[in-house]
Order: sequence, then C-alpha cells, then structure tokens
Amino acid sequence: MPVASLTEPPRTGTLMLHLLGKCNLTCAHCYMKGAPTRRERLPLGPVLDAIDDCATLGVGTLYLTGGEPLMYRDLPAVLEAAAAAPGLNTTLCTNATLLTDRHARLLAASGANLNVSIDGRPDYHDWFRRQRGAFAKAENGVRLATASGVLAAGAETVRFQPLLRLGRGVEMADERLVSAEIDQLVMQISDLAHRHRGRLACNIVGQSLRYMLAHPCAAYVCNGNGCHRRIAREIKKIIVRENGTIVPEATNLDPRYAIGHINDGRLTTLVSRFLDEDYDRFDALCRRTYAKVLPDWDTAVVPWDQILAESSRDQDESAVPDAVVNGSCGSIGAMH
Ligand code: SF4
Repeated sequence: MPVASLTEPPRTGTLMLHLLGKCNLTCAHCYMKGAPTRRERLPLGPVLDAIDDCATLGVGTLYLTGGEPLMYRDLPAVLEAAAAAPGLNTTLCTNATLLTDRHARLLAASGANLNVSIDGRPDYHDWFRRQRGAFAKAENGVRLATASGVLAAGAETVRFQPLLRLGRGVEMADERLVSAEIDQLVMQISDLAHRHRGRLACNIVGQSLRYMLAHPCAAYVCNGNGCHRRIAREIKKIIVRENGTIVPEATNLDPRYAIGHINDGRLTTLVSRFLDEDYDRFDALCRRTYAKVLPDWDTAVVPWDQILAESSRDQDESAVPDAVVNGSCGSIGAMH
C-alpha cells in the first residue's frame, strides 16, 4: 500500500477521512459540494478503527477533512486517537472561519498540522466562499492557531490548487486556467519557492506531466522490470467519503470502483479483499485512462484525481491498448 504486503508495509500511504458533508460555507468551487444542509457524517467508532489500522495499512499521512471538520462533534476524540497512533502525520483541512481558541489548543495538544484554504485577496475570497467576512474570520482563526503554537513558526507550505472540474466546480469549469496560464503559474511558483528556499515550501496540487510520462507507476502499478518502485499492487490513497463509501485514489471516483463501506468491517479487511478481488478492474481503469489522456496532455501539471474521477464515470470498460498495458517506468517514451 503502499499495500505491497499487509504485514510489513512502508508508511507511504495516505488516509483521507471526510468526516462529514456539512459545512458552514457553500464555496463556489467545492468539489465535495459541502453545505449547511448536508447531513452525512462518519460514525466515530469506525473512524477510530480506521486510524488504528493505519500502521498495518502502511499509512503515514492522515487528512481530516469534510465538509468542515471543525463541525464534527467528535473531533477531539479523533485528534486524540491520531495523536496516539505511532508514526502518523495528521493534517486538519479547514476553512478556519469557525476556529476558536478551544480548537486551537486542541490542535496544539494533538500535534496536528493545519491546512487553511485561501482563494485570494479578501474581497475575492469572500465572493468565492459565498460569505461576506469569510476572509476576516479565517484570518482570526489563523491568528488563534498561531497564538496557541500550531503555527508558531509561521506557515511551512503554500500550495496552489487550480480549480477542478468536480462537484460545484463543474458549474464554473470555463473559469479554469488554460494550459499557458498553468505553465506560467508553475514558473511563478518555482520563483516563489526559490525566493523562500529553506523557509517556505511552495508547490502546486497535481502531478508533473514529465514525471508521469517517465513513471506511469504514478498512475498505475506498472510492475515493469524498469519500475523504480518494484511494487506489485498498491493503493496510494484511501479515501473515506462522508457517507461511509471507501474509494481508492480519487475522492470523486465512481462508487462502482469502491473498496467498500466503513460499516462493512475493518479497513484492513476491506482493503485486503479489494486487492484480491477488485483491484484488477481498478488497475485497468487507471491504465485505460492513462492511455487515453496522457499522450495528448499539453500542460505541465496533470490533475490526475479529476481525470481519473471523470474517467471512472465512463461506462466503457473496453480493453486497454497493449503498449500501455505493458508500459513501465522508462519504457513508454515511444508514445510521444
Ligand atoms: S469550506 Fe471547504 S468543504 Fe466547505 S464549501 Fe468550502 S470548499 Fe467545500
């Protein structure tokens, strides 16, 4: 998994828990369609079990998100369990508008990282977040977190997330950056990273096209002799949606490719069954998608999550071209 084996896996996997669908905001771009009216929430017991299973699954990174995770009633218990899990690096993803002094102290005590989303200058942020004053509230939340010691050393990373054509983002898809603008953004981020080297990491969400072309194992387990990772089966990211559905790799993946449901058993058991019984179908989806999209992709950054999610809704599960079925690291340059 990182699940090469369930007995001694490396801790390179990620678990993303969408604790609930409810959010106090209704942001224009939300790929989760978070809203105050959403009712889905994960039951605490299976959430704690999933955190407990991280070590066995080779998961070293945990994201707690939503909806708005600060609205999850049992968040203190979740943070406590995450803090007690050995080798787990936990991040809470929040809009920070509801962050109180109590939350800040809780986060500081748990050692969790804080991921706060900002869309731009105050006016733009408020427009995008569909709430006047959202920027000021988020700023206040960050201030409290800083005072409690969570961000005492300042921000460690600034990460740029281009708009995804998922969830409510579909309705504003025509506002996405075109490829030349993405390329320009990548250069600006690179300059920023250089300027703040050693103090602030700067990056963009998505995969590098050059890397994906050289290493298809970023998209599927290429399993080739030239593969630098030498992994036979793998789920890099396990996502538990707010309704309990567990999917591999992409939050908005079609449920036809689900690993299972959080109420169906322990995560270790469900993942193990998925690898034995359903993994090949998912692997074929990844290979088919790679073959269809990557050769013609014309931007430096590949939003693989979005591409895979969209592709998973395609009913056509036809055969994968041989050249790509067998493509492995360093072997498919001929495609281009
Ligand atoms: S704050 Fe996050 S979860 Fe809530 S609506 Fe905005 S993007 Fe969605």
